[in-house]
Amino acid sequence: MSIEQQISELVSAEVRSLGAYKVPESTGLIKLDAMENPWEWSGDLETRWKEQLSGAQINRYPSADASSLKSAIRNLMGVGDDFDIILGNGSDEIIQLLVMLIAHTNRPILSVEPSFVMYKMLSVWLNVDYVGVPLNQDFSMDVNAILNAIKDNDPAIIFIAQPNNPTGNLFDVDAIREIAKSTRGLVVVDEAYIAFSDSDSLHLLDEFSNVLLMRTLSKVGLAGLRLGILIGSKQWLQEINKIRLPYNINVLTQISAEFAIENYQVFELQTKRLRSNRESLLSQLETIPGVYVWPSSANFLLVRIVDKDVNSVHQFLKDQGVLVKLLHGGHDLLVNCLRVNVSTEEENEQLVAALKSALS
Ligand code: PMP
Repeated sequence: MSIEQQISELVSAEVRSLGAYKVPESTGLIKLDAMENPWEWSGDLETRWKEQLSGAQINRYPSADASSLKSAIRNLMGVGDDFDIILGNGSDEIIQLLVMLIAHTNRPILSVEPSFVMYKMLSVWLNVDYVGVPLNQDFSMDVNAILNAIKDNDPAIIFIAQPNNPTGNLFDVDAIREIAKSTRGLVVVDEAYIAFSDSDSLHLLDEFSNVLLMRTLSKVGLAGLRLGILIGSKQWLQEINKIRLPYNINVLTQISAEFAIENYQVFELQTKRLRSNRESLLSQLETIPGVYVWPSSANFLLVRIVDKDVNSVHQFLKDQGVLVKLLHGGHDLLVNCLRVNVSTEEENEQLVAALKSALS
């Protein structure tokens, strides 16, 4: 049998038709495409962190349930004793765990669109059906359409990013409540960008036994560590923990994340500065003719290029040394759209200047 035949027998048609997740080459570019924190650690912080790391026992497996790190996260986030925490290698791994958990049910995953692409990707990879319900033109939820989709499809999990990526808006909490009430599945509220918003959905855990929360340390400044967080009732997390790979959080991440949490005020200051930079970037972008920009509760802005080919604008920015995310082609609501990360004052200025010259 040829390798092609073997592959077509063993790999699903859905996976065969996919491309691998693309991460564009960014060497030498101002990187505004992946919602990272632009600041490296200061000299003193870096020295103290490296001291901590020097005590790491890399010949030993890490703490299997990362209990010390989990209790630091519990304190940091104010997670009550009624709830538990599971850590993942990024929240991507948490999404994978959740989809794996329900894969046997033959019930689909549901989310709104456009939203974070991994909800759909992981469903496809794990051979679980996926239902995407379009948002309204203003990016709010079409609650009736979602309730109808729940009735028609009986989803096992509904993922809601709060605030949403790539649109940057917060959804109405009452809409989330209505969804949680109307489904016998799980509702996972993904608070990846919570640090840049005034929102907090922890209270939903008290209100609904079918709601779980996801968070991550990636966006506040620790994307390289890959640490995702699931918070929810002990009963649910006890089941999910059974399908978590042992030792999924490596020893260097455990030490580094605990150290970072001890010094969390650094990230709070940076987050505050990014929130203020976001508002000035927003008002500067608003003044550029041919640009439409939406307000955002996250560390990025969604931008529409009016009257000029967005692909060539994207390439022009790259040629000027500025890498942003091209969203055009991903969804009808994202026609002619780019997503730009909010960054340092200098990098934001470089973005504005490059965009002005792209559109002049
Ligand atoms: N959720 C949302 C809404 C995201 O946008 C992202 C990252 N793009 C993630 C989760 C994944 O974050 P992590 O780095 O923790 O895997």
